Amino acid sequence: MKKWKRSTKAAVLLGASSLIAGTAAASENDDADTAAKENSKQASEETEAENVILMVPDGFSDSVSKNYSLYKDGEPVWEERDMTTGKVDTSSADSIITDSAAAGTAYATGERTNNGMISTTPDGETMPSILDNAADMGKSTGLVATSTITHATPAVFASNVEDRNNYTEIAKQMAENENLDLMYGGGREHFLPESEGGIREDGENYVDKAIDAGFEYVETERAMEEAEGDRIMGLFADDAMNTSMEQSPVQPSLSEMTSSAIDHLSQNEDGFFLMVEGSQIDWAGHANDPAWMMSDTEAFEKAVEEATAYSEEHEDTLVVVASDHDTGGSASEATEENHPSVLKNVKATGAAMQEQVLLGDEEPAEVFEEHTGMTMTGEEETMVEEAESLELGFNHVLSERSGIDWTSTDHTAVDITVYAEGPGEEAFSGNLKNTEVFDAMQQAMK
Ligand SMILES: [Zn+2]
Repeated sequence: MKKWKRSTKAAVLLGASSLIAGTAAASENDDADTAAKENSKQASEETEAENVILMVPDGFSDSVSKNYSLYKDGEPVWEERDMTTGKVDTSSADSIITDSAAAGTAYATGERTNNGMISTTPDGETMPSILDNAADMGKSTGLVATSTITHATPAVFASNVEDRNNYTEIAKQMAENENLDLMYGGGREHFLPESEGGIREDGENYVDKAIDAGFEYVETERAMEEAEGDRIMGLFADDAMNTSMEQSPVQPSLSEMTSSAIDHLSQNEDGFFLMVEGSQIDWAGHANDPAWMMSDTEAFEKAVEEATAYSEEHEDTLVVVASDHDTGGSASEATEENHPSVLKNVKATGAAMQEQVLLGDEEPAEVFEEHTGMTMTGEEETMVEEAESLELGFNHVLSERSGIDWTSTDHTAVDITVYAEGPGEEAFSGNLKNTEVFDAMQQAMK
């Protein structure tokens, strides 16, 4: 079903990884590396982008990237490819510390708004998004997320509401949005009435309405792979999709959704705009869960590799990797003993371990050992007992063991790094406001 051909060994391996779910296929092959650099050089000579792929690791920072490179024992793809980089001030209109609604609105519309608002001005005026502008240029458009598709970051590209928590209104607007061709994520319950397993109180079924409007509707990874419609709505969970640590065989991974979205949207000769969000990196930050954060960053990196595999073959493609804000204020304090690599053996989130303790009759230390392969010291057991919650306790033990420190369970105001590769990448260098990320993408888009 792949319609483009890949020439480098790395690209072939990446293609294989998208077909065999969960198979890691990172290559540090020198030839591939050289080819990648040559390709990015060619790409930067193009001045206009037919295709724009915006990759958003929600709640990601330089510190997360540093910890991830230690975890991975190698450079993440956004470092390895020598992309153009810039610093982004993530403030919103009413706060130095943004939320994802205002941060996403800045990327989607080029305007700052108040926290909590979805592509509306602080006064409530609706604003068109870059996705609308792409559609006006005849391009295909898509949104991919591992949260509900109605969550703030995807929502800002295809709806306008004053309150980000108004998920059922966002679902309605997305289903009715004639500019949107593809959506993959969770959040089925926001589209369905209570009588059909959803939470809509208006009795409306926006899955049926989307189908009437020309969407092919899918709910599983297999159905997604087989879908052939011009417009596709993939809702793979009632609420958020599973974490990357607890992948379900029925749900596609973030990289599988990204690959599928690119396959479909790239059928359009006039190009496409695609936004892909690694939604749960943010949630791992709120939970101060270092293993979840590394695992979800790894899942996000695989999705970025799908985007760069495509851009290597299509040099008129601009790939932008831009977090919307930091979450957790993490720092890297790795030593030989306390190192992020210990997190590779962790198989559950702190939240899942807490649930297992609360629902069963096992001791916290037993559950911890079962999912991490680590035996807690007496001191660590006390730390877990005295923590605000078992979840935070488990996460603090793992944080200490991995040399990852946290200053917050919320967002912070630190600047983030934007990475860009392809036509128009120069505009992403230097010190930028988050609204200038929109400007640079819009300017590049042919
Ligand atoms: Zn958050």
